[in-house]
Amino acid sequence: MVEVTGNMHMHTPYSDGEMWHKEIAAAAIAAGLDFIIVTDHNVWVDGVEGYYENENGRVLLLVGEEVHHPRRQPQASHFLVYGAEKEMSPYAADPQQLIDETKAAGGYGFLAHPHEEPEFPLLGLPHLGWHDWEVDGYTGLEIWNYMSNFLDVVKTAVQRLPVQNKLLAQLTAVYYALNPEKYITKPHPATLALWDELLMAGKRIVAVGNSDAHGTPMSFGPIHRIIYPYEFLFRAINTHLLLSEPLNGDLVHDKRLILHAIGKGHSWVGYDMAQPTKGFRFTGKGANKGSIGDAIRLDVGATLQIKAPQKAHIKLIHRGQVVAETKNEAYLTHIPVDEGTYRVECTIEYLGKERGWIYSNPIYLY
Ligand SMILES: [Zn+2]
Ligand SMILES: [Zn+2]
Repeated sequence: MVEVTGNMHMHTPYSDGEMWHKEIAAAAIAAGLDFIIVTDHNVWVDGVEGYYENENGRVLLLVGEEVHHPRRQPQASHFLVYGAEKEMSPYAADPQQLIDETKAAGGYGFLAHPHEEPEFPLLGLPHLGWHDWEVDGYTGLEIWNYMSNFLDVVKTAVQRLPVQNKLLAQLTAVYYALNPEKYITKPHPATLALWDELLMAGKRIVAVGNSDAHGTPMSFGPIHRIIYPYEFLFRAINTHLLLSEPLNGDLVHDKRLILHAIGKGHSWVGYDMAQPTKGFRFTGKGANKGSIGDAIRLDVGATLQIKAPQKAHIKLIHRGQVVAETKNEAYLTHIPVDEGTYRVECTIEYLGKERGWIYSNPIYLY
């Protein structure tokens, strides 16, 4: 099992980002990432994939897309596509068709920032959450999006002000923007609840976590976002993948490994700014052995084992309920008696507050 760390949601000037692929790659190298996937709005940029190198190292840059229908208002229901290898925006008008065509093209699709808080006219922020809940057949959910999470923090803070006016709202946003890490605490609870609900319904739903980096110093533009530097965000919420073999520097080979791990959920979402999540492991043994994203046949003597990179509050969750937990420990072992999906959440103290740290994809016991 080989671990790689990456970020899979970011923008360049092809849509509303500030930096080009080469510059973003340099930021990713500086942050120590192994791979990034650039996802511009409604444009699949061909011809830029590959390894980018400088004196500090190298990073594999892949290209996906963030698709939405630009002629609807608000421009909601953003859909992240990985591995479709073609332009998917022609299907944007019909989210179910977009999902189906992504799958047909061999790609994986995720609902981006699905529960972003409602529109906030005082700051010119539209409601960009997911609006088309009747859809089915997507790969998973972006359970934690740094920029979206930050905007939710600002909206909540402004709502609590005794006076609601534009200048005060903007000053509040600027204040929060100065030290965002103080205020980022966990994924939207509604997204985690939806994830559990879908898992309980027997669906395989993969979670990813991302930056949604745009690189704009500060803007209340019509599309989104107050924004931070790419490198800062690449040190925050990332997705860690477990690969079946090491990357060997060949684009086709390495891309296949990475996309497979993304699609099958051999991965966890890590808030690496709180503490690096590298080295986390969640394994199981029953009639067969497996790791995150695998299916294991339950038998007598089956065990699930969790190893965190350092002491944390570790929770094992089955059917939306905590079935085992430990505080201030780096290990947790559990003997499961029920079939179904088991996922792990770890929290850790950072800057004086308990923060979401690791959200692992499930092991499936059957
Ligand atoms: Zn978006
Ligand atoms: Zn985005």
